[in-house]
Order: sequence, then C-alpha cells, then structure tokens
Amino acid sequence: MITKRVNAVSPSATLRVSELAKKLRREGNPVIDMSVGEPDFPTPSFIIEAAYKAMKEGKVFYTPTRGIPELLSAISEKLKNENGLDYAPENIITTPGAKYAIYEAIMAVVEEGDEVILLDPSWVTYEACIKMAGGKVVWVPHAEGFEDAPVEDYITSKTKLIIINSPSNPLGVVYPESFLKKIRDLAVDRNILVMSDEVYEKIIFDGKHKSIAEFDGMLERTILINGLSKTYSMTGWRLGYAASTEEIIKAMTKIQSHSVSHPTSFVQYAAVAAIKSDQSFLNEMVSEFKARRDIIMDGLDRLGIKYAPPKGAFYIFMDVKQDSMKFCEEFLAKEYVATTPGSAFGLKYSTWVRVSYATSRENIEEMLVRLERFLS
Ligand code: PMP
Repeated sequence: MITKRVNAVSPSATLRVSELAKKLRREGNPVIDMSVGEPDFPTPSFIIEAAYKAMKEGKVFYTPTRGIPELLSAISEKLKNENGLDYAPENIITTPGAKYAIYEAIMAVVEEGDEVILLDPSWVTYEACIKMAGGKVVWVPHAEGFEDAPVEDYITSKTKLIIINSPSNPLGVVYPESFLKKIRDLAVDRNILVMSDEVYEKIIFDGKHKSIAEFDGMLERTILINGLSKTYSMTGWRLGYAASTEEIIKAMTKIQSHSVSHPTSFVQYAAVAAIKSDQSFLNEMVSEFKARRDIIMDGLDRLGIKYAPPKGAFYIFMDVKQDSMKFCEEFLAKEYVATTPGSAFGLKYSTWVRVSYATSRENIEEMLVRLERFLS
C-alpha cells in the first residue's frame, strides 16, 4: 500500500536509542541524554509574553501563507543588518520549523534523477527529503580536519544542488571562507543551486558567521535556511524560514498553501519580538556552550579519543573505533548515557558517535567518568 517514495526513506536510526533512553529513565535509571538536538535553556520570557499578548489580542486566525508582513520585514531587516544580504520580504517564506523549509525547498527544486551533493557526515533530514523528491544523494567525504571536501570531483551534468550547513550538525564545524568560496565558484561556473542551512548561525565560539549568499553571484543561487529553534530555545514552537529568489519562494509557497498553510499565527508574532530584540542576551548561552565544549574536549583528549574540533553548534563528533550503533546501544544499556550513532549521518562515519552538550556541566563531567569506565 505504501509508495516507493516513502519506502525509500529509512526510519530514523536515532529513534531507537532515544526510545530506549526514555524507557530506561521511566524505569528509574540515572539516564544522561546527550542525544538531543535542542538547547537546554528555557525560551526567553519576553518571547513567551509576545505570544501571549498576540493570543489575547485575538491574533489567532489564518495568516498569509508566507507569514505576517511584520515578520517578513523583520527577517528581511535581520538578513540585511546582520548578514549583509538584500532579500526583500517577497524573497522570504516562514515555515513551521526550518525542517519544513528544507522539505519544501527540496520538493521545489529537485527533480526525479537530479543529483544532490551532501557532505559526509550531514544532518539526517537532507538525505530523507532528497529521496522523497526522487533525487539521488551524492556523498562527498570531508578532507582531514573537516574544513574542506573535494566537492569538485563529484559534480556531474546532473548536479542540481549542493547542501552546506555551517556551523554543522553533527560536526560542529564552521567552514572557512576558502571552502565557501570554492563552493561559490563551482555553483556559479556549473550552474548549481546551494542550500545553506544556517540554523546554528549564532552559536559560534570564535569569530562571526558568514553566509555563502554573501559571495558575488550567490544571492540568486542560494536557498538560505534559518529558524528560531536553536537560537532562541524555541524547538517546540516550530518557526523557520527560507530566503531565495522569488521564483523558488513562490514554488515553496504553493507547497505550503496546499499543506500546512502557514506557521501558527501567534508564534509568528513572538518571532517578530525575538528577531527584533537586542541579541546580546544570547552571549550568555553561547559562552555556556563554549565552556561545556572545552570540558568535553579536555575529557576526550585525556581519554585519547579523536574528534572533529567543534567551533559552533552544540555537538561533538568522536571516533569510538567500533560499530557506532552497537556502541550507542551498549553505552546506554550499561552506563545510561544516550548518544547518536554516526552511521545515521552518512556513509563513512560508522565508527563515530555524536554527543550533544546541550546539557549541564555536571552531566558532561559525569558522562566522561562513565565513558572512561565503559571503554576500560
Ligand atoms: N537544520 C539542522 C542542521 C538541524 O540540526 C535542525 C534541528 N535538529 C534543523 C535544521 C531543524 O530545526 P527546526 O525544524 O526545529 O527549525
């Protein structure tokens, strides 16, 4: 009964571990969950107040498909002021989460048989969306150090789209400008689109985020993806957005108008408050993530475990030198620590594991103790 389109997608390997973690916790075990992809901070109260105010004022009805004009303008201004990008409100669509913007964008531009370049390892949803669209995933391994990848060797006449994600999930890598420039040159020379997933843009430990859309000729070639989940601890609110050419945004709008209609009305008002606020309150969160990253890097160095050095986001990707699914299941069953197997993120990293440090310093220290015991 089920379509080939859906059968092509595997159920999330990460779910197995997280379901087991929940079960163990229900049974009263001291589970440390380091598999989660969401900040452990509350949504700032001024954002909650803005949603509440909108609800009380009766802003509880359908909105325009792409979102309320105030939000589209706020995003347009944000992209101009923070990223130096000239995307007018017509070039923007808001969606229920960045994930749905990714889904719509891939459905809009990937044709049956088109090739899409993914860097190995990449976040799990890109592959699933490409397959549902009938596209072919072309995995490109990272070079040593994870700051470059030989993308040029994998481009063919069928390459339609290159997906980059900086800072990256699961690596935490922030790609250097030289790599972005290389992708820009390939995209322009070979007439390829680039999807740039920038949801971790503000969680960077040194320096500032640079969007590939800033490079010459890239504004009209990029589908920029961003969202509020990670920056403002709003994963459950479901608010993301995309910026691109009017043609691509119109195509995405068609999908949205016939599926989810638009993101929740009062969440859009809360998003205006979040985006327009003074962003300095984020510094505290970012320095906390940085302190945790340092603890975890020191711990792994002490244990002699190799990892990709994270410069942003809140993940560390490490080589456990054994089957990653088996490691994750046993580490959870014996030491009650939930992590995510690297095999979920691509082809080459089946002995690597993703650890999220969106959890307290105490939990991180305790995880390191349990890891040492487990490995010995
Ligand atoms: N992109 C990346 C790289 C992510 O890690 C996530 C969340 N795990 C998303 C997009 C989706 O975020 P949301 O749909 O919550 O906005």
